[in-house]
Amino acid sequence: MLRIGLTGGIGSGKSTVSTLLAERGAVVVDADRIAREVLEPGTPGLAAVATEFGPGVLTPDGALDRPALAAIVFSDAAARSRLDAIVHPLVRARSAELLAAAEPDAVVVNDVPLLVETGQAGSYDLVVVVEADPETRIRRLVGRGLAEADARARIAAQATDEQRRAVADVVLDNSGTPEQLAEQVARFWAEHVSRG
Ligand code: ADP
Repeated sequence: MLRIGLTGGIGSGKSTVSTLLAERGAVVVDADRIAREVLEPGTPGLAAVATEFGPGVLTPDGALDRPALAAIVFSDAAARSRLDAIVHPLVRARSAELLAAAEPDAVVVNDVPLLVETGQAGSYDLVVVVEADPETRIRRLVGRGLAEADARARIAAQATDEQRRAVADVVLDNSGTPEQLAEQVARFWAEHVSRG
């Protein structure tokens, strides 16, 4: 098994690279998606969150009211840690389950937005960083429907490209076209994956 940690700032193109790697046969483990799954209606995770933060974080039909929860944890670091203490172990457990189910010779790609911030670089055989300059990322995020101020605030709260570069085995430059990104992914696969 080859374990690849894929990271990059918000809007850098991680999801796009994940899709390209999945097309080549990689098993993609997406931390953000798992974090949503472990809080779906009826899960023990959602029950724990409702117990911790009260019924106000649930919608009338029993789903997570994300804006209500975000409003609680946004400006309260202690509340944020209490939420992380519920969600992070569930995400780790689910990721481990997906890993255990993968074939022994699988290429497993973990899409971890905060890989650098949470000090996880050592958990992977290869760390791949996707880069694009902040203004390009903001333009793309706004194109995806995010408010510009939110995009800027999130970028400011994350590690810098320099910090990510410091732990990268491979840097993919996504300042060009999607085709140029796909070419780099093809080259990465040929050089680092197919050859073993
Ligand atoms: P991330 O997962 O790192 O947040 P995404 O892969 O979702 O980033 O990319 C952010 C947005 O930019 C998406 O809407 C995506 O379709 C778009 N995008 C990604 N790469 C390019 C590119 N090279 N050119 C134009 N748009 C791109």
